[in-house]
Amino acid sequence: MGTANNVLIFADIRNGTLRQVTFEAISVAHQMANGGEVHLAILESLDPNQIESLKQLKLDRMWHVDHPLLKTFNLDAYVETWVHLIDLLNPDVILTGHTALGRDVSPRVAARKRIGLLSDCIKLDTSSTYEFVFTRPIYAGKAYVQRTITKPPFFVTLRPNNFVAHFDTSLDQSIEIKTFHPNLSQISLRTVVTDVVRKVTSGVDLSEANVIVAGGRGVKSKEGFAPLEELAVVLGGAVGASRGACDAGYADYALQIGQTGKVVTPDLYIACGISGAIQHLAGMSMSKTIVAINIDPEAPIFEVADYGIVGDLFEVVPLLTKEWQRI
Ligand code: FAD
Repeated sequence: MGTANNVLIFADIRNGTLRQVTFEAISVAHQMANGGEVHLAILESLDPNQIESLKQLKLDRMWHVDHPLLKTFNLDAYVETWVHLIDLLNPDVILTGHTALGRDVSPRVAARKRIGLLSDCIKLDTSSTYEFVFTRPIYAGKAYVQRTITKPPFFVTLRPNNFVAHFDTSLDQSIEIKTFHPNLSQISLRTVVTDVVRKVTSGVDLSEANVIVAGGRGVKSKEGFAPLEELAVVLGGAVGASRGACDAGYADYALQIGQTGKVVTPDLYIACGISGAIQHLAGMSMSKTIVAINIDPEAPIFEVADYGIVGDLFEVVPLLTKEWQRI
């Protein structure tokens, strides 16, 4: 595998907490840097407890970017700041999560810097001595392609839940924290955030959940999601939905999984009353274990399922909840 002298990670933060994909990116950065420097850039304020957990990940430097324009997400200000930091640090590799943030900002920054971007990577091949080889899905997850990058610098976005974050609990090294004040006086903001309205959710972030209980049109109503929510609570997971369920008004679009919704890779995905259209599979077929519950034995979801239950979800789901409650 190639070696990068300097890897820069842009952190993804939600409500003062680093999202798991940032820890995963730090582990990937160490593999790529192989002794080189690893920098983490943080544009929002961070809970001090999180800095403690970063000490177990051997970071060389953390850049705390301080500017009033960055207090809430602003695309123009973020792009400008990322560009400034890349100019300052001159990294060989820039990593971030393939999240709403990474998907929005990284292509614009890559275009501004005229550097290559590999998006939605799910695997880093470590067998090549000289090159970085990343795998990414194409054709909505129907095929995979390996991409080799030989010439730095380049940008990579990582799909959450596909890389292992290696914490070393014996490590307790101090992190050098530097403050960076970007000069944003010249930029014209095309949009400004006037208000942030947060949706109240169950607490488990869908794109980072280890267990997802998803419902489709077979759930038949908004109320029909109640047994799925109970099962998700028992399993410590999150509830998701197909577009069929969202279009029918049974679930919020924030829960939609698939090509035009969220892409998820949980350890366990339980599909209830979902037929398994290609656009839905694009968002969940990488899940480690898939369980499908459907009354139709011919439903295409069974082709990707590891375990299939032909039956009525309103009978099967409460039984599963009861069994898991017993364990
Ligand atoms: P249906 O296809 O209607 O399936 C319902 C299933 O429930 C059936 O298999 C039925 O047998 C089963 N069922 C019924 N009653 C029960 C019961 N009591 N117990 C158990 N099973 C039962 N879809 C997505 O999901 N995500 C996307 O991001 C997405 N993006 C799209 C983008 C484009 C451009 C297009 C054209 C389509 C997209 N779709 C997406 C829509 C997709 O093609 C399907 O229409 C959709 O996934 C169907 O949702 P469904 O499986 O819930 O519904």
